[in-house]
Amino acid sequence: MLIDSHCHLDFSCFDHDRSDVIKRCSHLGVEIIVIPGTQDSSWQKQIDLCDVYPQLRFALGLHPYFLENVKPAHLTHLSTLLQRHQSKVLALGEIGLDSHIDVDWQLQVQIFEQQLILANEHHLPIILHHRNSHNELIRLLKVHKFIHGGIIHGFSGSLQTAKSYIDLGFKIGVGGTITYARATKTRHVIGQLPLDSLVLETDAPDMPLEGKQGQRNSPEYLPEVLETLLSLRSETKQQILLACLNNVKVALPKL
Ligand SMILES: [Zn+2]
Repeated sequence: MLIDSHCHLDFSCFDHDRSDVIKRCSHLGVEIIVIPGTQDSSWQKQIDLCDVYPQLRFALGLHPYFLENVKPAHLTHLSTLLQRHQSKVLALGEIGLDSHIDVDWQLQVQIFEQQLILANEHHLPIILHHRNSHNELIRLLKVHKFIHGGIIHGFSGSLQTAKSYIDLGFKIGVGGTITYARATKTRHVIGQLPLDSLVLETDAPDMPLEGKQGQRNSPEYLPEVLETLLSLRSETKQQILLACLNNVKVALPKL
């Protein structure tokens, strides 16, 4: 069994064929798909989809891309939903910092810190988004004494950086990036990390695999991410499959 630990299956580009995608995933062994939160206006849709499809699970949070219309009331709403759905909500996420987008950095930091405080209050792991922001993320995790771990999603960075997250209780999200031959650094790092730190993800519809650029990414390609991971590791397929499954359940205990 495979678990896609990060897939935006709530996005409207899946509205016309979501059932078919989920069915194809089941046939391929991708039996559970985690949908991270992005913005206030999407949370109810995520929750409703998870009621309809037993294969789907959700996390809730404010993604740095979607902060343009963020209001204090959204954080209050988030806290209410975390409380109301405490038996089901897997994590607070997707949250983080992204230095490549046109969203005020101070606003990103402020919303990230407020969500870290919420995650601490609700004893929830987090799903972390990064882009050129590892130092600040790691600093803030330490400032807030965050101990509930989670997943650093779509990881790229140095071995040292990956180990800093692992020391803070995080698992490392392995996605389509490793399918690109030019991603030599990330491929090398993923090959070197302890097996008990790795979890699989697609980040669909984003982060298409090599050869599929310009197309909608899909959780049904998760087995291809696994195949690439196999080529970077010395363990057997069975060992890697089992480890990734255990690891994601450690990171997101309500799975
Ligand atoms: Zn994402």
